[in-house]
Amino acid sequence: MIPGPVEFSPEVMRAMGMPTTSHVAANFIEIYGQALEHVRKVFLSPTGQPFVVPGTGTLAMEMAAANIVEAGDAALVVNTGYFSDRFAKILERQGATVTHCHARAVGDTPSASEVDAALGAIRPKVMTVTHVDTSTAVAAHVKELTALGRKHHTLVIVDGVCATAGEEMRQDEWGIDLALTASQKAIGVPPGLALLVAGPRAIEAFRKRTRPVGSVYVDWTEWLPIMQAYEARKPSYFATPAVNLIWALNVSLKEILAEGMDVRFARHRALSVAFKAGIQALGLRQLPVRPDVYASTLSAIYYPDGVDKSLVKLIDEAGVIVAGGLHPALREKYFRVGHMGVVSANDIVATVAAIETGLAKAGYKFDKGAGVAAAQRTLLKE
Ligand code: PMP
Repeated sequence: MIPGPVEFSPEVMRAMGMPTTSHVAANFIEIYGQALEHVRKVFLSPTGQPFVVPGTGTLAMEMAAANIVEAGDAALVVNTGYFSDRFAKILERQGATVTHCHARAVGDTPSASEVDAALGAIRPKVMTVTHVDTSTAVAAHVKELTALGRKHHTLVIVDGVCATAGEEMRQDEWGIDLALTASQKAIGVPPGLALLVAGPRAIEAFRKRTRPVGSVYVDWTEWLPIMQAYEARKPSYFATPAVNLIWALNVSLKEILAEGMDVRFARHRALSVAFKAGIQALGLRQLPVRPDVYASTLSAIYYPDGVDKSLVKLIDEAGVIVAGGLHPALREKYFRVGHMGVVSANDIVATVAAIETGLAKAGYKFDKGAGVAAAQRTLLKE
């Protein structure tokens, strides 16, 4: 129950173990082509151009920045934590002048009016938004922020690494110019794939560049014809695709689409609400400051008074793996629980039970069973 790599379905794992074909074998070309079509549907972006390349979420961020941004461009980072800082670093490496619009406190997001004012003052070419910041479990209001980007003619890039296919995101309807993620979280595939969908304005910005992209590996000049070839079911080569990961991706995307995006978003929301109800019933406080910034894919929970980070080990001994803190300012004060992908209601109840066992062993005084009861009551009401 960490925020990635998450648990993967048995069918996905079986695809990982299939005999590896050539990247230009007819059966692989068909699967890659299907996977690209499915990516478009999962991102709810019928007009978008998908890119699926070997790499991680950080590579997806780098690919987005390197293709759209040129030295001297202004960029606004809507900063909700650790991974927003990472985007700023990547943008700066591309020569952008980066301004941060910081949340007033760790666990919050900047307000819409603060972002609106920053966009008006800076008139940036791009704005980045971390959909769920994995260090804080804070979800940004992506729909509202994207509308502000549109208003100010700023390209909106959404880092959905801890969100896409779990949190509601409707790329075309909301007007997001580029959304990106990695395979190992709500997409449900072992680590190793970077996934991006670029909308028409993002592709136009790339085409209007005055200078070449500063890295060959992430250059869309190389990758665009490859993506187009596989979708047209034609062999092509730039850099060797991660063959088994693509097989696995296609399996997982089919599972996601069979569930249906609306049902999937609602399931993640319902499981998150139940988990958070369990935590609250134990008297624990969350790092995100208000329910309207709670992520559906992830929870960040403060250790109660008298309990320290050894709780993570005690929960592990009770059979559930959770993650420690990540935000540099608070690292020692909280732990994180991911609930995305194939996670079920039973996983939520079992996780709250393991947290109760850990807390009891740590000497924390609470009403035993209250967390499990609250989570279960919430699940049965949903
Ligand atoms: N952005 C967010 C929101 C993330 O959670 C992560 C990974 N935890 C990344 C970017 C970087 O992804 P990766 O570790 O796959 O490079």
